Amino acid sequence: MFSNLKAQPADKILELMAKYREDPRQTKIDLGVGVYKNADGVTPVMRAVKAAEKQLWEEQTTKAYVGLAGDPAYSDAMIGLVLGDEVERDRIAAIATPGGTGAVRQAFELARLASPDLRVFVSSPTWPNHLSILNAMGIETVPYRYFDAESRAVDFDGMMTDLAGMRAGDVVLLHGCCHNPTGANLNMSQWREVVSLLNKTGATPMIDIAYQGFGDGLEEDAAATRLVAASVPECLIAASCSKNFGIYRERTGILMTISESADLTPVSQGNMNHLNRQSYSFPPDHGARLVTMILNDETLRADWQQELEDVRLSMLNLRKQLAEELQRLSGSDRFGFIAEHRGMFSQLGTTPEMVERLRAEHGIYMVSDSRLNIAGLNQTTVPILAKAIVDTGI
Ligand code: PMP
Repeated sequence: MFSNLKAQPADKILELMAKYREDPRQTKIDLGVGVYKNADGVTPVMRAVKAAEKQLWEEQTTKAYVGLAGDPAYSDAMIGLVLGDEVERDRIAAIATPGGTGAVRQAFELARLASPDLRVFVSSPTWPNHLSILNAMGIETVPYRYFDAESRAVDFDGMMTDLAGMRAGDVVLLHGCCHNPTGANLNMSQWREVVSLLNKTGATPMIDIAYQGFGDGLEEDAAATRLVAASVPECLIAASCSKNFGIYRERTGILMTISESADLTPVSQGNMNHLNRQSYSFPPDHGARLVTMILNDETLRADWQQELEDVRLSMLNLRKQLAEELQRLSGSDRFGFIAEHRGMFSQLGTTPEMVERLRAEHGIYMVSDSRLNIAGLNQTTVPILAKAIVDTGI
C-alpha cells in the first residue's frame, strides 16, 4: 500500500531551517521561520505563561476530557481579546482548535459544509499553508492582488478590483493584522471600503489573526477584525495564540463564527463541535487553559501585556534601525517600507536569485519569496544584513 504513495513537495520554510542548521558558518543569520526570537536568538517562555503553568501544576486535579468545543471559559476569554464587546455574544459560536492552523482548517471545512461550491479568495501572496490546505481539500482558490511590487505597500486598487468579482457563497480570506508574508497592511479607511464591498457582494469574510499584539498594539491590531465583525451579517475568525503567548508547540487556537442572528448560533456551534469530533475529538487543553488563566487574572494579564509590548517594540526598533541603515548605505529611501510594515515579517520584493545569493555569499537565510523575519535580527546583525542587501545590489 505505502509503495503507492507519492512524495509530497517539501515545505520550503522547513527545508530552509534544515539548510541553516547544516551551515557551518559562525556568522550565519536565520531570518526564515516565523518564530519570535529575542536579541540572544532565544524564543523564551513568557513570564506569565511560566507563572500560570506553575499555578496549574499546583491546582489541577484532573486531566479528564473537557468538551468538544474546548473549555467555554477559553472561548469567552478569546472572544473578549479578539472582538472586545463589538458583537452580540449570542451570535458567536466558537471551538478551541490545535493552533491557528487547526482553526483555519476547520473554518474551510465549515464553509464547505455550508457552501459546497465554495471559492476562497486569497491575497497574492498569502501564508503558503493557506493555499496548501485549500489545495489539499480541493477547494477552488481565487487570488486577489495585494502587494505592490514597486512601493511594497498594499495594491489597494488592484485588491478592490479583484474582490469586486466576489459573490454570495464565496469566502474572502483576510489577514486581521501583520500580513504574512508581506508585512503590508490596510489602513482603517481602506478596511471600511472592504466592508462596503463585502456587504455589496454578499461574500463572507474569514479573518485569520495570528499576530495580535505584534503590530501596533493589542487593541489596535484587533481594530480591523472588530470593524468587519461588527459590520457584516456573517463572519469567520481564526485566531492563534502561538505568537502572542509564545506557546507555539502547545497548539492553541480558536475558530469563531458570527451568525446573522442568535437563533442560528446553535446550529453553527453544533457543526463546529461535529468537525472537532471528526478530526480529533477533543482539542488540546493545556495552552488554552494557560491563556484563559492569564486573560482572566489581572496580575498575570498585566505582566503578559507588558512582555508582549516589549516584544512588539523590539521588533519595531529593529525595523527602524534596518530602514535607517539601508538608507545610509544605499543613499536612497527605497527601503523605507521596512519601517512602515508591521508584524514579524517584511517582504523585500526581490528575486529568488538574489535571496539565494544572500544565502550563498553572506550566510543570510530568508524564504525564497524574500520574506524576512525581523525578529531574527539584533543590533549586531542589522548592519550586516543592510550591507549584504546593498552589496548584492537589491
Ligand atoms: N495564520 C497565519 C497567517 C500564520 O502566519 C500562522 C503561523 N505561521 C498561522 C495562521 C497559524 O499558526 P499556528 O498554527 O502555529 O497557531
